[in-house]
Amino acid sequence: MGFACLMGFAKRRESDGHRGSSFELCLYTGRQENFRVNPSRRDLAVILPALAAAAQAQESKLLPSKAFPYESLPVKVNGENKSRAVLNGETHSGYAIELHMTELGPGQAPHPPHRHVHEELMMLQRGTLEATIKGESMRLPAGSVVYMASNDEHGWRNPGPEPAQYFVIAFGKDS
Ligand SMILES: [Zn+2]
Repeated sequence: MGFACLMGFAKRRESDGHRGSSFELCLYTGRQENFRVNPSRRDLAVILPALAAAAQAQESKLLPSKAFPYESLPVKVNGENKSRAVLNGETHSGYAIELHMTELGPGQAPHPPHRHVHEELMMLQRGTLEATIKGESMRLPAGSVVYMASNDEHGWRNPGPEPAQYFVIAFGKDS
């Protein structure tokens, strides 16, 4: 699953005449379907570098083992809110995963209730949040966790008086 294959015929030397060996070069694309092409030599000269670049781009999305010290995370400040991007990439199976931390000031919300195709996990590290899931609101103390299934409407705000800090892990892609 998920391989792009090129079929070709390589001559070892000119003196070999038409003798040579056929080859098939397959690269993992991360897509669902396999595809196979049988290009001319000239096509190959164009396709091979493109495939190599695509393979490299694909590889770079693979998340390596890594520690993310809190102080080293880039901080984006938006009024009373702060956001820290931690990681954004793929697991070995090509599954998308993204993690960020958000700090909300008292009375703040990251956005109005929304919905999306990808699933989400919110883990409240400190402070209090008032979460609304499919129209139902609840107050959550530090240490609470919320899992949002695909396309379920959800949102939260910090009722105060302390800042609230939480992690959000997004699973999968929206398309
Ligand atoms: Zn969301």
